Amino acid sequence: MAAMTDRYAVFGHPIAHSKSPHIHAAFARQTGQDMTYEAILAPLDGFAASVAQFIVVGGRGANITVPFKEQAFALANRLSPRAQRAGAVNTLLFDADGILGDNTDGAGLVADLTRNLNCPLAGKRILLVGAGGAARGVIEPLLDQKPSALVIANRTVSRAQELAGLFGHGVTACGFDAADTPFDLVINATAASLAGELPPLSPRVFTADTLAYDMMYGRDTPFLSFARTHGAATADGLGMLVEQAAEAFYLWRGVRPDTAPVIAALRA
Ligand code: NDP
Repeated sequence: MAAMTDRYAVFGHPIAHSKSPHIHAAFARQTGQDMTYEAILAPLDGFAASVAQFIVVGGRGANITVPFKEQAFALANRLSPRAQRAGAVNTLLFDADGILGDNTDGAGLVADLTRNLNCPLAGKRILLVGAGGAARGVIEPLLDQKPSALVIANRTVSRAQELAGLFGHGVTACGFDAADTPFDLVINATAASLAGELPPLSPRVFTADTLAYDMMYGRDTPFLSFARTHGAATADGLGMLVEQAAEAFYLWRGVRPDTAPVIAALRA
């Protein structure tokens, strides 16, 4: 009997916009892996049942996106240390021992910054704007790069303080008005760009040596254009998207795809 092709999927709601099927199909072609990858719209009240159904029909792993990352964290019976610290899961692996939950978002961001954008983080001052799930997921991988400071600025200051408290030494929290000195790297991890809004940052955080990074991708954002106006170099989150996918692909298949041509094709 012929072996079944391994199945993977991304679960989200909505999901039609997802670029993940395209990215993983490109990785599979490039590395000669026999697998399929589809997008699955899970009902808002039926995430766990959708995943269970996918495992029954031969699913080997999955990516998880909005709004199910916390539910995926709860669903996994084993967690990688980085998923544990992130409090959210964006990658599942199904095996004989059940469901392993991982979080590759932070590794994806760090890979994009350090490898694709040539922005080493050791000794750098980093301003992380936002204190939601995306911010939480990237803190530990950023700290692993040994920046000299990591400041979390958020509209609701108490959420930034809560997050800083989880990570302790080297992380401080403030409101937007208190972040008014220059940073080497300013990362927008808020959902403001989704609504076409600008987090009310001081222009003093940007200099000609600053890299301003928006986790959002697919269009120029008010944050990136504000940063550019104040002299900073800018980058969107498309590289992070492809790099987090590559990290998931490696977990599932044990092979590292070449991300550069995939990022270039998506940009084109
Ligand atoms: P959450 O809803 O969990 O977090 C929302 C955050 O945004 C909070 O800090 C909130 O502040 C802040 N916020 C929302 N609106 C505004 C506003 N108008 N002005 C200032 N702050 C605002 O979202 P996520 O953390 O899940 O996602 C954040 C972004 O990251 C999204 O754009 C998402 O697409 C992107 N992302 C990109 C990835 C990639 O691979 N490139 C991966 C993961 C996420 P408050 O606490 O005050 O409400």
